[in-house]
Amino acid sequence: MHTIPFGRPILDNAEKDAVLDVLGGPILVHGPRAKAFEEKFAAYTKAPAAVSVSSCTAAMHLLYFHLRLGPGDEVIVPAQTHAATAHAVELVGARPVFVDAERATGNVDLQALDAAITPRTRAIAVVHFLGMPVAMDTVMDIAHRHKLFVVEDCALAIGSYYKGVHAGLWGDAGCFSFYPVKHITTAEGGMIVARDTTLVSTLSRERAFGVDRTASERSVPGVYDVTMLGFNYRMSEVHAAIGIAQMDKLPEFLAARRRNFEALRAGLSTISEITLFEPGGGDFQNSYYCMSVMLDRSWAGRRFEVVDGLRRRGIGTSVYYPRPVPHMSYYRDKFGYAESTFPVARWISDCSIALPVGPHLTVESMNYIADSLKAVIGEIR
Ligand SMILES: *Cc1c(COP(=O)(O)O)cnc(C)c1O
Repeated sequence: MHTIPFGRPILDNAEKDAVLDVLGGPILVHGPRAKAFEEKFAAYTKAPAAVSVSSCTAAMHLLYFHLRLGPGDEVIVPAQTHAATAHAVELVGARPVFVDAERATGNVDLQALDAAITPRTRAIAVVHFLGMPVAMDTVMDIAHRHKLFVVEDCALAIGSYYKGVHAGLWGDAGCFSFYPVKHITTAEGGMIVARDTTLVSTLSRERAFGVDRTASERSVPGVYDVTMLGFNYRMSEVHAAIGIAQMDKLPEFLAARRRNFEALRAGLSTISEITLFEPGGGDFQNSYYCMSVMLDRSWAGRRFEVVDGLRRRGIGTSVYYPRPVPHMSYYRDKFGYAESTFPVARWISDCSIALPVGPHLTVESMNYIADSLKAVIGEIR
């Protein structure tokens, strides 16, 4: 019996030793590790600056708070994403204006995005869906035309590049997640990158009560001023220590994801009942978060039979994402969206099964997954 979990963090003695090292010392926050992790992450993405935070959701909330968005303001948000992309807008009292996805990649439809802008629009949030980068030059053209701030939700986009620039560095800020099943983990955690170093240094104070200097910058202990409003959205030294160790493994993780993705894509090519998204390449360097397969419409009602067949063969799957965000109860009840809205996002939610390609798996597991999907569809047919 195979056991193929959808996602599994890869942690070994490097992370364990790093954590024990923190616990053996006196500094649990405000220490050198969060700073070192930020520097390492910035160097990897070639960001001029980065600031660590407690999650990707915190990162996006912090940005909208920083922009002082509130009631009467609108932010463009893809309908096909994690609830967090929209929640961050809701949390400051602004309105998320949802835009449908495009069929080829699941990324936001850029024509529909342009059409959704109103005089109240203040920002655009884009999501690199499952690691496939959005055509950011088009997004930035639209943003410049309307003078809008651009937030990139890069939760699944470590290792994604559009035209050679890492995700998060086309827009005004990029927000990353280190939740356990993302590309790298700190258990919980996030990072913001930006081209504007002044923005990053202001955000780093706003994530820590708006205090004017960090503990290590205080020449007299306990003496500091609070110059602005702020949260406690810091990353602890324990989390940062795990992150530093994970950064060393990142190139290997990404290479394994790519190898697995390509093997699985080849294996699935003979199954006529499914559609795949474009794989990326060229200007669109994918980070290969997972392989979403879209069952033909006529099969959608039997999706969970397929999922169950895979589960019985030891294969863990997921759905990205189970409903368009505007169809989730909170948003549907608040804004009254009909089921017929956002049809492409809905198609992805209704018909897709996400198959794993993570670095915890081998090419042999990819062949097994492809053979199993073929067999399961054959059995149900
Ligand atoms: C996971 C995820 C988030 C949330 O990240 P957290 O670090 O758990 O807050 C946000 N957006 C997308 C697209 C995600 O996949």
